[in-house]
Amino acid sequence: MARILLVEDEGAIAQTVAFALRAEGFEAVHALTGREALRLIAGGTFDLALLDVGLPDIDGYALLRELRRGRDLPAIFLTARQAEAERVLGLELGADDYIAKPFSPRELVARVRAVLRRGRALQTSSGFEHDAEGHRVFFRGRLLDLTRYEYGVMAALLQRPGAILTRAQLMDRVWSDGSDSTDRTVDTHIKTLRAKLREIDAEADPIRTQRGLGYSLQVV
Ligand code: CA
Repeated sequence: MARILLVEDEGAIAQTVAFALRAEGFEAVHALTGREALRLIAGGTFDLALLDVGLPDIDGYALLRELRRGRDLPAIFLTARQAEAERVLGLELGADDYIAKPFSPRELVARVRAVLRRGRALQTSSGFEHDAEGHRVFFRGRLLDLTRYEYGVMAALLQRPGAILTRAQLMDRVWSDGSDSTDRTVDTHIKTLRAKLREIDAEADPIRTQRGLGYSLQVV
């Protein structure tokens, strides 16, 4: 049973969403504020986050960055604001999907299923298996011996198979603890990651360089 973290300060919306998720067999845990969401994630594991962009204490985008610190967490934004710029910003941050209010609970549940399915499909088609809770990645059934930052890069790529992640996005996600990073830092870690993948399969080159853009994980 997938466990969903729902962060929404409007009680009526939260209730409707939680009800729809539970009716479909999901476990829904609700936080009214960003602070509460951070407390919940520190104490448990979630398969996906549904985040309202307009929260009273923390901006939804900033909250996602905090929630993802050191962990892999698929996320869908809920928003009342329609502006396209925000939509782009949301997806740039690495959210997996975006739903504008008002939405039907049925549509929302379908989106949640799709995002969770994408994650599972990747695991079976690409040779990767990601244990987000244990911060471990397996490739072709073998555990990759990764440094903390290599793991962060790998987890970010695994989260959005096929999508291009820019170096800036990777720096933001993986080196968010404030340690120094440059484009070159990212490239160096990609290089060592590739070497570790090749140790398992000499032919394997699933991390693609997207010239002038960044990197993506090849989806088979
Ligand atoms: Ca709100």
